[in-house]
Amino acid sequence: MNAQESGPQINQERCDLCGRCVQFCQHHVLARQDNLILVTHPENCVGCGTCEEVCPRSAIAYSFAIVWEET
Ligand code: SF4
Ligand code: SF4
Repeated sequence: MNAQESGPQINQERCDLCGRCVQFCQHHVLARQDNLILVTHPENCVGCGTCEEVCPRSAIAYSFAIVWEET
């Protein structure tokens, strides 16, 4: 799994369901289902970090995976 396949991490306890991350993600990675924000299409995530920037509660973060490659 690489960083783009994992998508952002969401802290559901901090999230107040404002919907800004869903609204501003142009790649339709996120969706609200009932009382949760879910990463429904992690394969579409390009790692732009917009969701993290627009979240007013610091409840979502795009974290890069570190992958060691043998040379
Ligand atoms: S990092 Fe960018 S593409 Fe990925 S979920 Fe956030 S806003 Fe969408
Ligand atoms: S922007 Fe932040 S607080 Fe708002 S729905 Fe997304 S994760 Fe939750």
